[in-house]
Amino acid sequence: MEQKLVILGGGESGVGAAVLGAQKGYDVFLSDLGVIADQYQSVLNQHGLKFEQQQHTEAMIVDADLVVKSPGIPDKAPIMLKLREKNIPVISEIEFAGRYTTAKTICITGSNGKTTTTLLTYEMLKRAGLNVGLAGNVGKSFALQVAEEHFDYYVIELSSYQLDGMVDFRADIAVLLNITPDHLDRYDYQMQNYIDSKMRIVQNQRPEDWFIYCADDPVIVEELSKRTINAGKLPLSISKVLKSGAWIENEVLNLNVNNNTFDMNIYDLALQGKHNLYNSMAAGISGSILNLRKEGIRECLSDFQGVEHRLERFLRVHNIEFINDSKATNINSVWYALESMQSPVVWIVGGVDKGNDYSELYDLVKQKVKAIICLGKDNSKIIAAFEGMVKEIVDTKSMEEAVRSAYFLSEKGDTVLLSPACASFDLFRNYEERGRQFKDAVRNL
Ligand code: ADP
Repeated sequence: MEQKLVILGGGESGVGAAVLGAQKGYDVFLSDLGVIADQYQSVLNQHGLKFEQQQHTEAMIVDADLVVKSPGIPDKAPIMLKLREKNIPVISEIEFAGRYTTAKTICITGSNGKTTTTLLTYEMLKRAGLNVGLAGNVGKSFALQVAEEHFDYYVIELSSYQLDGMVDFRADIAVLLNITPDHLDRYDYQMQNYIDSKMRIVQNQRPEDWFIYCADDPVIVEELSKRTINAGKLPLSISKVLKSGAWIENEVLNLNVNNNTFDMNIYDLALQGKHNLYNSMAAGISGSILNLRKEGIRECLSDFQGVEHRLERFLRVHNIEFINDSKATNINSVWYALESMQSPVVWIVGGVDKGNDYSELYDLVKQKVKAIICLGKDNSKIIAAFEGMVKEIVDTKSMEEAVRSAYFLSEKGDTVLLSPACASFDLFRNYEERGRQFKDAVRNL
């Protein structure tokens, strides 16, 4: 009899998994508690797949042999509890798709820098002429590509939610950029649960695989002291000189992978800022492992265009620089943004706070920030945190108002930085819309 596959969630990953599941002979049923976007409904219809929306028909779901769950659905959702009671296996779309491909995978995770590093690595491999796909949180789902394409390599961005649903999946190259508190609401507010989730990136790795990790991150270093890693370890550091992996010495980025060395001046890197050194090093190491030509690696690291909404320097108005860092939704990424600022900053911050401890930013704010523009429905926590530390704190409730206040408070040579430290959904649909509204408002000044 046909095995029953139930997919929970009708977004990019769920619909991709449904198409792949049908192709592999499963009897597929997709269920979404919300509304399924038209584009995805039409894909489901084209493939003649059964689906429902705005409800979960429990009888159909608990009848599954296997469930693929979208990363957005929390483990505590009632339907998940039902599935657990019945011991029905629940996996992520990445795990599912990984069962049907032999392509080599370069998997990137971390609390911050995933998308940047994923896109940089993908671009490097593609420019080198490898037959490579881009998957995970960015672009088309891994499952749909496994169903419809024939790539030899995949660069995959993995969030902790996807890692949670991974069992047998193995990364040929695993990259762990950093671990700082984020999404703790989904991990019972236990940091160790979140760390364990991130560390799943190395599970099933063999000695011939590679694990690239940040050796400057205290959480990662502490965790590694407790675990055995089977893969070859390649650390990244900007503060220590290393023998293998990647490090910075006298403003030169060095790579050493199996005694194959590479170096380049850090001022030639396209992505500036300390945090981006790690991202460039991680991509460079992946390129070296795959034996890409040094010239190719150098070229890509020096002229990569960057990614929208991540420290995006998009316009100068009367010699005031405007930077869109709308994707900075936690304290750590704001820390790196402020750290990389070279001129006085008017900082736009606020939104939905995921439990921020603003005191981690006090030193940088005292050094670099001349005014704070709060942008959110409720700005009281930010105002209380920074009162008295900067000359001006302004309370705003719309992007237009925020940009106008920021422009008013800045002078020639200053920088206006949108780096919110918070999620966007009090005033915007998502961080992309927040970033676009910011850019539009600046262009309208
Ligand atoms: P992610 O996909 O993990 O959310 P992004 O590449 O989209 O990461 O970047 C998110 C935010 O984090 C941006 O504000 C960016 O400037 C900042 N950032 C990028 N790389 C790093 C890093 N290695 N460490 C800390 N912050 C980073």
